[in-house]
Parts: sequence; structure tokens; C-alpha cells
Amino acid sequence: MLQTRLGSLHAFEQTRLSQSARRWLGGNAPSVDTISRVMSFVDSDEVRKTLVSVFRQLKLNKGFAPLAHGQVALVIDGHESHTSYLRCCNGCLKRETDTLSGKRTQYYHRHVAAHLVGRDFTYMVDIEPQRDSDGEITAALALYERVHKNYSRSYDIVMGDALYSCQSIWKAVLANGKQIITVLKDVCKTLLDESTKLMEHQAPIIRQKKSAIQEIREVSDCTSWWDDETKIRVGSCRETKTIKR
Ligand SMILES: [Zn+2]
Repeated sequence: MLQTRLGSLHAFEQTRLSQSARRWLGGNAPSVDTISRVMSFVDSDEVRKTLVSVFRQLKLNKGFAPLAHGQVALVIDGHESHTSYLRCCNGCLKRETDTLSGKRTQYYHRHVAAHLVGRDFTYMVDIEPQRDSDGEITAALALYERVHKNYSRSYDIVMGDALYSCQSIWKAVLANGKQIITVLKDVCKTLLDESTKLMEHQAPIIRQKKSAIQEIREVSDCTSWWDDETKIRVGSCRETKTIKR
């Protein structure tokens, strides 16, 4: 799916007999049953190597340009691929959910994915399965280590949601000489308090965005939530919308 850039095997089934697909492949593509059977035997490292070489070619051909500010982002995020109450496999994670007929065990799969984000283009570089229900950070660290090895000169900044505001991730990224942006959360309370206090007395930059008004503030050189040496820049945006009923 990564290599065909289609969303599902079902989507592939729809296109595999088209003129363009046949022309490109020089014949008929195998059925999706054959593809899924064969893919389950393919070594993941071989797929990773292919993705690295495709990306290098893409850069050589100037097919991947940085964002307007000249930097490429590496976005890391957790995704749930499928859930079931009825079926499970050895790799399934389990959770109890409340349903109309009482508590039930739900089986699901989650993985952490890494994308390189450039101008008008995102490139999925790697994924790592999550082995237990609170294991997203463990999976993300393993993933990041591998991605950095393969794409160390292809990105400038790592981005993640509030879950990634944790010491281990920040330290791993900073140790590689890269920058990181995450959403702050309660665990960074001292940093949140310090920056909020400093922002209170600051005149915001006002930006009009269609029907919304944004007030943007930022403070530099805030002390990180784990040591005194690491300095963090905190940005805040308050958006106000007017709705006519
Ligand atoms: Zn499973």
C-alpha cells in the first residue's frame, strides 16, 4: 500500500485491471489475495530499504521540496488500524469497552508512523507496531531511532502531539541535533505556568483568518520541565470566532 500510494487492498482491486496499471506493469497485476499472502512473508527491512532508495531518488529528481520556511518536518503519530470484538491474533492489543450489552473485550492493533512533510507532499517512511496498550512512547522511540539512522539528513524538526511532550522523546531528538515541536500538557506544568505568566503581560500579534481572530504570543528561553540547561520556546494561539445565528 505504501508503494502504490493507495489506501487499501480494496482500492488496489479497483485499479489493478485498468489500462494504466496494465501499461505500467507490463501485464496483469496479481489478485489482492495473492498480494496479501505474499506480503505476509516479506521481510520488513527489505521494504524499509526500498522506501529509503525511493526517497533518495525523489530528492535527486527534486520531487521533494521543503516547506515555505525551508525546513522539512518529521511527524510522528499513533494510529489504530483495525478493531474487532470477534477475532484476534497473537499481535492484538486488548481493552474493555462499555457497550449497550455491558462490558466487552475489544481487540485492536495500533502502530506509530513517521512521515516526512515537505511542500505539498508527505512521504511515509516507517512504522512500528505498539506491543502493549500504553506502549506508544516505547514504540515511538524505537521507530525514531531507526528513522534517524535512515533519514538523518532529510529532516530538520520532529513534530508530535501532547503525548510526545515527554523527556525521553525530547532528549532523543535534541541529542541528534534536531529541533522538536510538541503540544504541551499537564506533565510540563512548571513550563506551562512560567510561560503563561510571561504571556499575560505581552501584547499579542493579531491575525485575521476568515471569520476567526487569532491572538498569537510567544516566549523564548523558558526552562524545560526536566533540567535547567534546556531552553524551550513556547507559543500560544487563542482563536476567537463570531457565529451569527
Ligand atoms: Zn490482531
